[in-house]
Amino acid sequence: MGGTLDFKVRKTYYSTIVAASIRIFNVETRVMATKKVVVLGGGYAGISAAKTLEKKFKNRPDIEIQMIERNTYHTLLTELHEVAGGRVSPASVRIGLNRLFKTDKVQIIQDKIDNIDFNDQLLYSANGSYPYDYLVIATGSRPFFFGLQGIETLGFKLWSYKEAVVVRDHIYDCFHNASTVTNREKRKKMLSFVVAGGGFTGVEMAGELGEWKNKLCKQFSIDREEVSIYLLEALPNILNIFDPDLANKCKKRLEKLGVQVLTQCGIERVDKDGIYLNTKKKIEGTLIWTAGIQGNPYLENMDIKYDRRFRVEVNEFMQSVQHENVFCAGDTISYLYNEKPLPQIVETAVQSGESVAENIGRLLGEKKMKPFVPNYHGVMVSVGSVYAVAKLKSIKLTGLMATGLKHMVNVHYLFGIGGLPLIFDYLNHEFTDRFVTPRLDVIHNDPLHKNVTQF
Ligand SMILES: Cc1cc2nc3c(=O)[nH]c(=O)nc-3n(C[C@H](O)[C@H](O)[C@H](O)COP(=O)(O)OP(=O)(O)OC[C@H]3O[C@@H](n4cnc5c(N)ncnc54)[C@H](O)[C@@H]3O)c2cc1C
Repeated sequence: MGGTLDFKVRKTYYSTIVAASIRIFNVETRVMATKKVVVLGGGYAGISAAKTLEKKFKNRPDIEIQMIERNTYHTLLTELHEVAGGRVSPASVRIGLNRLFKTDKVQIIQDKIDNIDFNDQLLYSANGSYPYDYLVIATGSRPFFFGLQGIETLGFKLWSYKEAVVVRDHIYDCFHNASTVTNREKRKKMLSFVVAGGGFTGVEMAGELGEWKNKLCKQFSIDREEVSIYLLEALPNILNIFDPDLANKCKKRLEKLGVQVLTQCGIERVDKDGIYLNTKKKIEGTLIWTAGIQGNPYLENMDIKYDRRFRVEVNEFMQSVQHENVFCAGDTISYLYNEKPLPQIVETAVQSGESVAENIGRLLGEKKMKPFVPNYHGVMVSVGSVYAVAKLKSIKLTGLMATGLKHMVNVHYLFGIGGLPLIFDYLNHEFTDRFVTPRLDVIHNDPLHKNVTQF
């Protein structure tokens, strides 16, 4: 009897040890075999990379995918001017990251990365560290100020959701405050706006401002003649990426909206008394800076090769020239394709995001990587809400047709990342929820404006 009991106890004891060993072995083999791909940045490039990885590895428990983004949302940067110009509500350019992935394959982490240790393969934030086996850097770009004095501190920027809201509120406050001031000089200063940079962003911002100005003048009983809007471009023409005839059409449209387009006109410096131009003119007013672009300066002092504007040097696979397991996508890339730098536009971001995800898949499957081959469809720019110009391969469009095309491109992008719900939101923001009134706090205190729409 005693012997049988002893045997049973020993049997249970041994089977427990065996089961535990199997469990440890399983955990260890899983940990050993698991590869972790981290996508840093949830912009156009990061989303594209993460979604391609999700599709590729949805049935592979041995591959973990993490996306780290400092915001809880994806920002539609190309539409920031509509927010800054008071045309649409800020919510229209902000899409919650939790709406973008069909499965839970991509783990979304909201954190801001401050440092990367490429040897130990760790990303560091103020909250801790994140290991990776493969890393996709897709942290976008920031404005560049060419070392010009005063611009960074005194000028408004238009490179993030928050900056767009700040610009919008400032413009609104200028009109609101000017309506309460009787001193002509003070009013003139409050109602003068300089948009620096005749590229896409500058033209789109100036166009929105030209349109919004009319509504604000009506709202605050200000004479339109009192408002000055300047678009400054250092080169002989605006929109140098376009054919001259299309660029000229944009210029005419801007002038129709009351924007003074000054070409071959640069800013020398800015101080609290005004904006000093190389034509010896001084303008007192608001500066919105859209003229320069550089990579994300947080890369400074990190052990990765980047060019003089903080863009990471990559090879034809968009792989860091220094670290084999680090790839880049979007505005972060420094690469000459057909002897020209890759343009920092959405098509580059989306396509390079897909390409690096595919190449990581090939590396994991021990296959040969494929070089990144961009395929650009065209360029378009809007000047206000009902006018745009577009060039698609050899087709040129202007006016409402081009505006319609721009909406279609946005709808196509949104459908690709989030399906029908995002399209409904877009149409609602663009066509029904328009003409939002900012600064509700100001308005609520104003007895003249009682029944305003909350947004
Ligand atoms: C106002 C404006 C208008 C534009 N208009 C057009 C246009 O009409 N057509 C066009 O093709 N292109 C346009 N562009 C350019 C286009 O938006 C960019 O080329 C595109 O956004 C690049 O995508 P990206 O993913 O590389 O960077 P982004 O879209 O900027 O995304 C980078 C992401 O990384 C995150 N991030 C950055 N640093 C960190 C960090 N340290 N830790 C965690 N997360 C971080 C950011 O929060 C951001 O979400 C415009 C740009 C601007 C600013």
